[in-house]
Amino acid sequence: MLEKTIKLDQNLGIQIMRRLDALSLFSEGGDGVTRRFATKEHRQAAEMIQSWMRDAGMEPHVDAAGNVIGRYQAITLDAPALIIGSHQDTVRQGGKYDGAYGIVAPISCISALNDEGVHFPFAIEVIAFCDEEGVRFNTTLLGSRAIAGTFDMDGLENTDSNGVTMSNALKEFGTNPNEIPDLARNPNSVLGFVEIHIEQGPILEEEGLALGVVTAIAGGTRLSARITGLAGHAGTVPMDRRNDALTAAAEAILAVESYCSKVPGLVGTVGRISAAPGAVNVIPGDATFTIDIRAGDDNLRRKALNDIKVEIKALCVRRGVEIEMGTIHESDGCQCAPWLIDQLDAAVTTSGHPQKRLISGAGHDGMAMEYITDIGMLFIRCEGGISHHPAEAISVADADAGAQVLLNFIKNFKPQT
Ligand SMILES: [Zn+2]
Repeated sequence: MLEKTIKLDQNLGIQIMRRLDALSLFSEGGDGVTRRFATKEHRQAAEMIQSWMRDAGMEPHVDAAGNVIGRYQAITLDAPALIIGSHQDTVRQGGKYDGAYGIVAPISCISALNDEGVHFPFAIEVIAFCDEEGVRFNTTLLGSRAIAGTFDMDGLENTDSNGVTMSNALKEFGTNPNEIPDLARNPNSVLGFVEIHIEQGPILEEEGLALGVVTAIAGGTRLSARITGLAGHAGTVPMDRRNDALTAAAEAILAVESYCSKVPGLVGTVGRISAAPGAVNVIPGDATFTIDIRAGDDNLRRKALNDIKVEIKALCVRRGVEIEMGTIHESDGCQCAPWLIDQLDAAVTTSGHPQKRLISGAGHDGMAMEYITDIGMLFIRCEGGISHHPAEAISVADADAGAQVLLNFIKNFKPQT
């Protein structure tokens, strides 16, 4: 019976795309979708998601952090749960699919299971995490941290750009933030966490694949660098007597690019730079910039950081300028569990797709969920690798393919013993 439902022509994909369109209307305005944490739009989305969950045979509620949680009961009550989910929030002027697809697709899968009256020895919980992007309060992974028991309660006093504290925003949203510590899950009640998400990169599209299984979420280090040279008159200081901070920074930036280009699995970016005094006729005496280095393999990233720092220091000595570098952020990579990777791979194959494994260069809720359970991720192709932009797009066929694979995965899911 179930097999027949699965093979109906992309009917899950069509439902998913319609629902993603509907969800995208809860937006603060402007191009694309802007839906921040604990706003009116978040509340509207939460109500709609809960109604879909009810239709799919789940019992939904909104927790103290603003996560929407729907539970599809197991054959026996109080069985441990497989958690599947993604985030409801977006960046400013983001797209319809980043996060939202990973909420809507599993609800459609559960709906298909519910239509057939299929239940399992394990429960399934779909979670629409309240805030992954961190746009409103500059703190990421709020929802998944609450579930993992690593939510920073001091952060409730952080304010948004209008001076509203997170605590008051949540009260306005309709929850009691003091209850957030109670949301921490007992790891024994959770069998694993799986997220399905758009790739946000071009690899699947370039290889003509609809889906890929994620092996790791890349770790990252962000440095701030400041080069101090000597400001001087642009007309009177000869070229061979200069201590130009900005040209030294330019060489350092190219060194980052050159090093990272030669090492597979490594990416490096300088996203910000400023020069002082910043006048057209003055040799820059001061340049500050950032360096962002990421890799799925932590050792590769650490070696790269070390090598790049040595190279930049050497070029600064040669150019007669001083350099200071400090770490402003560091997170280790997060490995997906081999047993979940294998079961996702099997679901991809069973659904008739070629196997593909890849690394996620972007951060995801799994980084917080890893604290309490094993994690797995599935990526679906997105057009041009574009995300965090109104032009974000997926096809109906791929929306359907992701849901079919997820459904196959759930049907054959074997908790690790
Ligand atoms: Zn996302």
